[in-house]
Amino acid sequence: AKEGGRSTFRIYRPEMRLEAERRHEMKLALHHALEEGQFELYYQPIYRIDGPDLAGFEALIRWNHPEQGLVAPLDFIPVAEETGLIVPIGEWALNEACRTAARWPAHLRIAVNLSVSQFRDAGLLDTVRRAIESNGLAPERLEIEITESVFLTDVGQSLPLLRAMKALGLRIAIDDFGTGYSSLSYLRSFAFDKIKLDQSFVSGIETDAGSLAIIRAVVGIGSGFNATTLAEGVETEEQLQALRREGFAEVQGYLLGRPRPVGDTEAMIAALTDP
Ligand code: C2E
Ligand code: CA
Ligand code: CA
Ligand code: CA
Repeated sequence: AKEGGRSTFRIYRPEMRLEAERRHEMKLALHHALEEGQFELYYQPIYRIDGPDLAGFEALIRWNHPEQGLVAPLDFIPVAEETGLIVPIGEWALNEACRTAARWPAHLRIAVNLSVSQFRDAGLLDTVRRAIESNGLAPERLEIEITESVFLTDVGQSLPLLRAMKALGLRIAIDDFGTGYSSLSYLRSFAFDKIKLDQSFVSGIETDAGSLAIIRAVVGIGSGFNATTLAEGVETEEQLQALRREGFAEVQGYLLGRPRPVGDTEAMIAALTDP
């Protein structure tokens, strides 16, 4: 073949085989982890910007690997998505988050991340319904976080699912706002309850004019669409002040609290509710 034609061939390279083997081993390990109860949810607090009030928590999954210790989601969620294991893992996370939040004071919400690939599972709506009903969690306390990429593929399937979840009474948040490749027009096709501005814009707030311009635009979009605005990844007091000045409603980040295991989280809630 000529040089130019090369890209159309799938050239075999030894590392491909290694990659496939690695993925297969990880799949077995994830399956095992689910059966052995090696997954754990950490909870990061979300605050209203105007007061000391806690609005709720975001549930973030961790894998307690017997040899490797605590594994971060970015190191296993992609494989879980490729192998379809995200469906049972996601079901576990939803149920665990609802079960835990159900024993918290009723004004606290719980946010759970759903992968786009979970939207291809026909059983998703039933899974969500079961998680709230079997744990007795008021539906408006559960917030589903999805990324804009849900609008890049299978809109025909995701949109009715999102609408059905909303009809159940759940709140739907758009996560990592501003980082996807989709156009803004999806905002007109679905009424999101919350917009979570990606942390990359928050970290640029003091240094680059572009980030500030985007932050202002998001405040405008939020008020125009009647969606709560939340800024993620707030790490400094200066960022917090700027977000308050620009009119963001909620904040989340290391400055206010890192994701913590359930025990620490519930000790914190107890200290707030009966000081
Ligand atoms: P995300 O949903 O955007 O979650 C925010 C991530 O930023 C979390 O990382 C959180 O620990 C981290 N973070 C929070 N505050 C700060 C801060 O002030 N500074 C910095 N630098 N980082 C901060 P984590 O826990 O490693 O989760 C990474 C991603 O994994 C999540 O991003 C989410 O996309 C995914 N993920 C986590 N749990 C689940 C889950 O149960 N299901 C699914 N499908 N995905 C999950
Ligand atoms: Ca999230
Ligand atoms: Ca995010
Ligand atoms: Ca993210």
